Amino acid sequence: MYFSRTHSAEIARSDTIAPTPMNPASSLLPLPDFYERVLVITAHPDDAEYAFGGTIGRLCAEGSEVHYLVCTDGSQGGEDPHEASAALTAIRYAEQRTAAELFGVDSVTFLGLPDGTLTPTLALRRSLVEAIRRVRPRLVLTHQPLRSLEYPIGASHPDHLAVGEAALGAVYPDARNPRAFPELLAAGLGPHRVTEVWVPGHEHTDFFVDVGPYHERKIAALMCHASQFRTSVDPRADVAWVVERMRGFGDRAGCGYAEGFKRIVTDTATAPGPVRAGHERSGAS
Ligand SMILES: [Zn+2]
Repeated sequence: MYFSRTHSAEIARSDTIAPTPMNPASSLLPLPDFYERVLVITAHPDDAEYAFGGTIGRLCAEGSEVHYLVCTDGSQGGEDPHEASAALTAIRYAEQRTAAELFGVDSVTFLGLPDGTLTPTLALRRSLVEAIRRVRPRLVLTHQPLRSLEYPIGASHPDHLAVGEAALGAVYPDARNPRAFPELLAAGLGPHRVTEVWVPGHEHTDFFVDVGPYHERKIAALMCHASQFRTSVDPRADVAWVVERMRGFGDRAGCGYAEGFKRIVTDTATAPGPVRAGHERSGAS
């Protein structure tokens, strides 16, 4: 789960989701590039929708091929200790597939690792390298690998931190390095350079995606995860904070609704790193 329902309930507000007229895509603030293929790497079923559902909806609508890789089995996403883990996992996988279909996501793959146990191991990194070399994305969306001391604690679930770190390690250097995991090369999975990674920015946010009309699809996708709202009397009220956050990022970006990221450009020659006035940018590789 991206945020616990308990947390959501604490900050839920009574305001409902205001209807917004559909805007043509051409009226949205432009994206930096066209991303032919996108790989979304998350820890749990529902993370993609919470973290960047509006962006996924927009990317799909604008013609990107989008693939999901969900690392865990979601088996800790419930509050009934007597429910069989396999049964809960089956429900959560089905919910994840339904949510992805709502956006038009091209594929959903589950690694099936036990929920709540992830650390950024070499084995996890290898699995992510394999996925990157199969999909060959220009853009990867994944978790923020740094614990936020500012944002609600649910954002820094240990599985999120582990996946974020493993994914960035997979992007650089392993996916592009033909000498990393030679068995993948032997299996026909050659090196691949991911050019951008976007993670939820938290206090490091420096990049916004105008999600315009797709903010409503994001909420609809969240509602597909019904197992996460079993005891809720009003699931949409529980996620009102998600709408408020998109409005807040929209205020900063100069649009109605946005999602906020830290944008990592992996080509160091063009990455917007810190530059001191009068000094050349460091070209460390
Ligand atoms: Zn999660």
